Amino acid sequence: MERPLDEEVWGRFSQLQRRRPGGFTIAALMRPPAGGEDGERWLERAREAEKLGPLGLHTHWTAPDHARPTTGDPAAVVREQGEWLRSVGLDVRLFCGGGWYFDSDVARAVAELGYADCTATSFRPSYLEDGAAHLQLQEPTWLELGNELRLLELPTTHSIGMLARGVWGPFRRQVVHAYFHDTDLLDRRRAAALRVGLAFLGLKRTATDLRELQRGLRPANTMSFANSLA
Ligand SMILES: [Zn+2]
Repeated sequence: MERPLDEEVWGRFSQLQRRRPGGFTIAALMRPPAGGEDGERWLERAREAEKLGPLGLHTHWTAPDHARPTTGDPAAVVREQGEWLRSVGLDVRLFCGGGWYFDSDVARAVAELGYADCTATSFRPSYLEDGAAHLQLQEPTWLELGNELRLLELPTTHSIGMLARGVWGPFRRQVVHAYFHDTDLLDRRRAAALRVGLAFLGLKRTATDLRELQRGLRPANTMSFANSLA
C-alpha cells in the first residue's frame, strides 16, 4: 500500500479486502506515514486493514514516491519503522522492501523483528539495473543469515499481468503469491484483471494467505544469505 491516505485509493483497497476475490485474504503491506502525512488517519486505516488480513511493513527508503534507498543505512530504517509499528500496537508480521530492495543487513533486521519476508521475486523487475540489490527466488525458502538467525522468505511470484495470463494455463509452483499496488486499483482495467485473475486462481488452487503460510509452511529449500550481497 503506497497511498493509504488517498481517499479514493483507500476506498478501493478496503473494498477489495472485504470482497475477497477468489476467496483470498488480501494482506496489506503498508508504507508508514512520511513526515507531513497524517499519522492518526494512517493508524486508523492500518487497524482497519489489520482486521481484514495480515499486516506488513512496506518500506520506502527515500520518499513516498522513491522506494529504493539512495543513502544511509537501509537496515536501520527498517528497524526504526518496525519498532514504531510495534509501539503503536499493530500486529505486523510481514515485510516487503520498496522497489524490491533487499540486502543481508535488511534481511537480518526483518528476521529480528520476527517478520517473514516477501521481497524476493520469481521474476527480474525490468527497471532494476544490473547488479542492483535484489533477491530472485522461485519457491519459499529459509534464508540462513548467520549466527543461527534465519528468515522465512515467501517470494512474490505474480504481477497482475502474470496472474491474468495464468488464467490460460496452470500455475506450476508450490505457492502462487500475487502482488499489486493499491494505486493499481485506480485503473479500471488493472483492477478488473486482478479480480478475474484471483477468481480463476481460487478455482484452480487451494486458497491460503501469508499469515497461514508463515505459521505452517516449512520450506524444503535453504539458502545462505549472510553477506551475499555485501
Ligand atoms: Zn512501494
